[in-house]
Amino acid sequence: MKINSDIKSLCLYGINELLLEKEDFDYTINKLIHLLEVEDYSDSDVGDIEVVEPSSLLRPILNYAFTKGLFKPDTTTQRDLFEAKIMDILLPRPSTINYLFDKLLSDDPVKATNYFYKLSQKSNYIKTERTSKNIIWKSDTPYGPFDITINLSKPEKDPRDIIKQGKTTSSTYPKCLLCKEQVGFYGNQSKPGRTNHRIVHMELNKEDFYLQYSPYVYYNEHSIVLKKEHEPMNVTINTFKRLFDFVDKLPHYFLGSNAGLPIVGGSILSHEHYQGGRHHFPIEDAKILSEHIIDDITIRQLHWPLSVIRLVSKNRETVIKTADKLFKFWENYNDLEAGILSHTDKPHNAITPIARKDGDLYILDVTLRNNQTSDEFPLGIFHPHPENHHIKKENIGLIEVMGLAVLPARLKHELQEIKNVILNNENLPKNNIHYEWVTYLKGEYKGKDIDEFINKEVALKFVKCIENSGVFKQTSAGKKQFDRFTRELINYLS
Ligand SMILES: [Zn+2]
Repeated sequence: MKINSDIKSLCLYGINELLLEKEDFDYTINKLIHLLEVEDYSDSDVGDIEVVEPSSLLRPILNYAFTKGLFKPDTTTQRDLFEAKIMDILLPRPSTINYLFDKLLSDDPVKATNYFYKLSQKSNYIKTERTSKNIIWKSDTPYGPFDITINLSKPEKDPRDIIKQGKTTSSTYPKCLLCKEQVGFYGNQSKPGRTNHRIVHMELNKEDFYLQYSPYVYYNEHSIVLKKEHEPMNVTINTFKRLFDFVDKLPHYFLGSNAGLPIVGGSILSHEHYQGGRHHFPIEDAKILSEHIIDDITIRQLHWPLSVIRLVSKNRETVIKTADKLFKFWENYNDLEAGILSHTDKPHNAITPIARKDGDLYILDVTLRNNQTSDEFPLGIFHPHPENHHIKKENIGLIEVMGLAVLPARLKHELQEIKNVILNNENLPKNNIHYEWVTYLKGEYKGKDIDEFINKEVALKFVKCIENSGVFKQTSAGKKQFDRFTRELINYLS
């Protein structure tokens, strides 16, 4: 039977790609034939296995499992769940992965992350076959080249899955998708399984944290660092200490935290976590508007759509202390002319801190945020404004702050439709969300290369979204307000 050779091929893949030891071969075969309910297994000659990614090996096995009724309905979600159970069998236990990661880390941090990242890809936890479909480009903006990605790898919910989920009651274990208890979790009626999910322990600021990779990889080696305890997001001096402990251990990675307040923070506020990775972001090349030196630290104002202060020093303790003072200063800063109110009945000022190293320099980019709402802007005053929602409506988190736009999958088709409309000099229906934008684009187009033109205009729209999120605007009044803030900050720090 073909399933026999498929199982054997998968085990050989496991050995070739170093997830499995030769001594584990028969043991793994037995686990797989049990999971797949194969009763008449026999060894077969499968020849050499040459596979770069596991999806092609898994597909026939999943087809077999569905035909046998081992999962239903036949949706991407149910396939992914069953696939995770298969790959879990091929993966080492978390303790082995931790041991190997730590051993490599003491020798060379790059080797340690290479090992863990490849493991996450080879186990198909990161589905390279899907992430390679993401649309990615760079476009010039007044702030330098920006990175844009239309993320197509996050599967859309199938209505059949929603029906299946709707019939179930919710449980409280694990408390959230980020909790460490997700490791090897089989899933239940209300929570998806993540059986092939692995994390490695890292001590940051003498506290327990875990490193994992994001299955949707918005950029190279997109990592998530989560706290052992399920505690809400909260930016304090400990955040800066943890971020710098992380980049001291993995100097080729950056690590940043979203703000601790809603609207200006990330999508999960209930569990303390950070995002990092190995990618050169546009913000790193931002022009410097001004520079002040106090003892051993340099304080820079960046030319950026959001209001960013960069702290640079060889002395990490100075950066941590200065960041703490800066945050305290900002938390109580009001500028009524700029519409910045630090408190009403609750606090509104927050920061998005992002840490990295450059040789022996410690760098912290601190983005000033404010989460007030108003009757005019119920989703947030410093949030993408309604006229830009047709491109992006979601919170501007630290990835966007750094100049990488993560745009919704729907844009793939919508932008194609827009290109056709412009090329054929047609109009979109008046109720189309892009109607006004397309009217503007038709005036700007003038026979340019359509793909390049649209890519650039999307980037400029995204810049508008993050300019909306900036507390000091890119106007002469806004620049004066940012200068006033910086002057008062320098006085406070001196
Ligand atoms: Zn949690």
